[in-house]
Amino acid sequence: MKIYLDHNATTPVAPEVADIVTRHLREEFGNASSVHSFGQTAKAAVDEARAAVADLIDAGPQEIVFTGGGTESDNLAIRGVAEAIRTSGRRQLIASAIEHEAVLHTFKALAKLGWTTTELRVDHTGIVTPEALEACITDETALVSVMHANNEVGTVQPVATLAEIAHRHGAVFHTDAVQSVGKIPVSVRDLGVDLLSLSGHKFNAPKGVGALWVRRGLRVVATLTGGKQERSRRAGTENVPGLAGLGCAARLAVERQRAESSRVGELRARLEAGILDSVTHTTLNGECRQRVPNTVNISFKGVEAETLLIALDLEGIAVSTGSACSSGSIEPSHVLRAMGLSPHRAQSSIRFSLGLGNTAAEIDHVLEVLPPVVDKLRGLSRAGANAGLRRAPAAQVAPR
Ligand code: PLP
Repeated sequence: MKIYLDHNATTPVAPEVADIVTRHLREEFGNASSVHSFGQTAKAAVDEARAAVADLIDAGPQEIVFTGGGTESDNLAIRGVAEAIRTSGRRQLIASAIEHEAVLHTFKALAKLGWTTTELRVDHTGIVTPEALEACITDETALVSVMHANNEVGTVQPVATLAEIAHRHGAVFHTDAVQSVGKIPVSVRDLGVDLLSLSGHKFNAPKGVGALWVRRGLRVVATLTGGKQERSRRAGTENVPGLAGLGCAARLAVERQRAESSRVGELRARLEAGILDSVTHTTLNGECRQRVPNTVNISFKGVEAETLLIALDLEGIAVSTGSACSSGSIEPSHVLRAMGLSPHRAQSSIRFSLGLGNTAAEIDHVLEVLPPVVDKLRGLSRAGANAGLRRAPAAQVAPR
């Protein structure tokens, strides 16, 4: 049995999406900028996708800029606004400490160009409080970037309140909603933001397609220059098959998100309770209530997360120790560290992220396999032995 519990890294492409992508690859190969009928068919597919993505986030189609994914959307938002605002005298950029590297590394690059960058602290649950933003925002702040949902612990930020604070100080507000779109309802109007990033492969569309929503009237300088695609905001021939897939995934999310979120949320709750009850010395990381329903992050005291990940993989169970984009790195997660976890605890933490196709039978299988695997690793590891974490009593390891 192969069980995939790493949907925050990427998701399987939905069958309906794969059909549309294949149709465009095989039959409808036109360039959306061409005047002839092949081009017009491609353009219609891009327009349809634009309307579907706009509908998913409660936006207008003209406000959607298609990109090559979440990383590019974050770059376009931050660099594009910084460039547009460069001469305004506003020199400060603020982002939370738990942002994805797509934001944090872009900030580092801009710091080298003379921007003042400020990292917003999060509390121990992984939430950016309004007070934290109030404490560092000034009337020289150009842009504030705070993600909607965190990729590692799933916490959902009070974005509407934070955006309101930013606007009071005349700053632009960007949110990276890569991990919330498709999982919970996302409305750009309700959030009150100026820019929002999303990525197709996090909600059952192909990799390499995404979008940046730009509030009508906000100036963003293109980072990719060339042709006039995307109203001159992102040059380059459109990835028509990928965008048709993104549009299809957006339509499916609109239709199914509510039911699917509650189904996945129940499975996650079953997994979470099962682990916390049956494996000793486990701790939940992050805020329990303000969280995307599919994500749970748990520390297993005395166990190296990387070793547990590999042991579970050998059992056919795929999980993660944090952001997939930084896997291979042995640095403790910057998200868990920012939440105040010790390096040890951060390095013993596993993320389980559920999605399309996961079943109750799979969760029960994980709950059967995991406790003895953890016991075995604790028995083997000196850290576990030192912490007195050898075998838990049989009654405690029985799965729920
Ligand atoms: N932002 C967040 C919160 C993410 O989780 C990711 C991917 O893991 C990205 C941005 C980058 O998106 P993409 O993989 O589409 O470039």
